[in-house]
Amino acid sequence: MNDPLHTFFHPRGVAVLGASANPTKLSYGVLHNLVTHGYLGPVYPVNPKGGEMMGLRVYPSVADVPDPVDLAVIVLPAAQVADALAACGRRGIRHAVLIASGFGELGAEGKEEETRLRQVARQYGIRFIGPNCVGVLDTYAPIDTTFSRTMPGQGSIGLVSHSGAVCGGTMDWAHVVGVGFSRIISLGNQADIDIADALDSLAADPHTRVVAAYIEGLPDGRRFVEAARRLTAQKPLVVLKAGRTPSGTRAVSSHTGALAGADRAFLAACRRAGAIPVETLEEMVDAAIALAYRHPPAGPRMVILTNAGGPAALGADHVDRHGMRLADLSPETQARLRAVCPPGTMTGNPVDMLGGPQADHYAAALKVLLEAPEVDGVMAVFVPQAITPVYDVAVAVGRAAETAPKPVVCCIAGGGGIRAAARALHAHSVPHYLTPERAAFGLGALWKSARIRETLPPEPEPLPDMDRERVRALLEGKTGVLDPQTGAEVAAACGLRVPPSGLAASAEEAIARAEAMGYPVVLKRVAPGLTHKSDAGGVIVGLRSADEVRDALDRAVRPGERAFIQRMAPPGGVEVIVGGHRDPQFGPLVMVGLGGVYVEVLRDVAFRLAPLAREEARGMLEETAVGRLLAGVRGQPPRDAEAVVDALCRVGWLMAEFPQVAEVDLNPLIVGERGAWAVDVRVVVRPHPSPAAFGGTPSPLPNSVQERGGGREG
Ligand code: ADP
Ligand code: MG
Repeated sequence: MNDPLHTFFHPRGVAVLGASANPTKLSYGVLHNLVTHGYLGPVYPVNPKGGEMMGLRVYPSVADVPDPVDLAVIVLPAAQVADALAACGRRGIRHAVLIASGFGELGAEGKEEETRLRQVARQYGIRFIGPNCVGVLDTYAPIDTTFSRTMPGQGSIGLVSHSGAVCGGTMDWAHVVGVGFSRIISLGNQADIDIADALDSLAADPHTRVVAAYIEGLPDGRRFVEAARRLTAQKPLVVLKAGRTPSGTRAVSSHTGALAGADRAFLAACRRAGAIPVETLEEMVDAAIALAYRHPPAGPRMVILTNAGGPAALGADHVDRHGMRLADLSPETQARLRAVCPPGTMTGNPVDMLGGPQADHYAAALKVLLEAPEVDGVMAVFVPQAITPVYDVAVAVGRAAETAPKPVVCCIAGGGGIRAAARALHAHSVPHYLTPERAAFGLGALWKSARIRETLPPEPEPLPDMDRERVRALLEGKTGVLDPQTGAEVAAACGLRVPPSGLAASAEEAIARAEAMGYPVVLKRVAPGLTHKSDAGGVIVGLRSADEVRDALDRAVRPGERAFIQRMAPPGGVEVIVGGHRDPQFGPLVMVGLGGVYVEVLRDVAFRLAPLAREEARGMLEETAVGRLLAGVRGQPPRDAEAVVDALCRVGWLMAEFPQVAEVDLNPLIVGERGAWAVDVRVVVRPHPSPAAFGGTPSPLPNSVQERGGGREG
């Protein structure tokens, strides 16, 4: 794949607009880093004052800058940026980094300024990063256009972030503990180059083994998902997203000016993308260092090698929590351990060397464990004590583990004395953690990355038997909630199974319909604005005769209203809900959960992006109680789970292909032993459909499926 940001990392010359000789200014920092952090091409400070800076000639205007130059770093106040960008364009520069803040993050006016930047960029064919960013760096190129104080060492983590401060903070931490980076890309407001470009760039970069992304707003969630999928086919991606809760969303909107999406949509997007979602900055770096330094385990069987019981027990709990388990060590392995460990060592798992193991003991025991066929990975835990130097243990663990194909993580707790130990471990490609929980998290990230690669969802299969023309005709000219009959016809046109049904304006009509479809039937009141028909006594099931239909109509339907007559689904089915809705960032989603009145309370629902492959739909069932219930509990027969899978795929395609459909609810889908019936189909059509079938189509958030949520994510 081509690197869309190639020139940003390998420019033939860089102009710094607004360069300053005043060390308290950002523009000084940028110039300083370009000059001193290894970049070998020419650097041209631009400042109307002219003169000389850091031994370089200063050009009064960018027009005076000689060749070669193909990147501009613009460090001017917001009000001057657009003009400066145009000047770069006139000079033939096609790439720019815009550092200034004071744009979209401030609100409407700033957004307008950003639009102006885009116009200028389009006019001259410029691609730019920012505004409101700290720039980019590549430790191998090398080049550093940021104004941060330290250049990180070389490593294999590619970091991309909407927040410059997150980049800065992460670089500081990394510097202290000796963790290196391949590239850092601070995107800022991503008015032009966005997260998807950055992911493509990091996918193409041979020095990047793992990508950590800190995300705020995603104007086009589907573009992100597609780029992430391309990336994760090659290397793992860890994603931290702010704005997943109502408060977080508020903080983000006042920060980069973007609106963030709901949590479940994000998690569904990660699933589709094959990304590992994390909750905190700490988790982001914990996962990133594990993935940067180690190969994923071949299986889930972990060993904890320790000199203290408590931390090992905590580590064991968290190994389980992340889907792995403690290995059962064979008698041979235990015998080999006894031969190399201090007397009294407990050779079960955790392997506890008790009070006084030396560094050599760690090295020898680790060697045995890494050779044992029943072991897939190791967590080495060392609690510093008086007799054994921490640093020695770190070096011993690092040396023993460095070239092993199995993952080894190391937990050494403690304060200041730890830094050297951490640096030693990282120098030997062993990730260091301060607590056993975090070490287990690192192992878990490796385990997850292996699982993700195996289970990356395939492309959704098209459904040739969907009658698109019929759906289009049914939706034509409609807005708001469709009546139940039209809803049922839409469902039928999508290939969903619906019982025979029809609308009736009188008792005679209702009876005629019932006789035509055959008893038993159900009668439902039809009234605009009535969402829960049965709440108001508006659903009467199990009608077996003309008299019963007439009586039901009298009771349930008011004068002037119509009745919906529907054949009863076969008895003994399990009621589930299958739904579809639209997220403002990630576009159409489908949902499944247990049907009925408790769905809001139990919140046992799963979400995926639509359209979806059958495998993904099956995963949704496995993730919720629906799957277990359909499998048959307490003597009940198993129900047709594949019919639910089919319904999810069909609702997925309906959402994906018809952007005018804002929401769909099949509640319930009655699932029998063979087949499933959509007996209550609610379709909401939006008044002004967006032309795009996928993603990015803003819709007001509160809707039925959304309200129900909160539980299991997609
Ligand atoms: P609402 O959700 O608006 O109250 P529904 O059409 O979902 O109305 O009907 C309520 C309940 O009645 C369903 O959950 C289901 O238990 C039962 N029901 C409705 N239609 C049928 C049908 N055709 N066959 C069997 N049961 C039905
Ligand atoms: Mg219903």
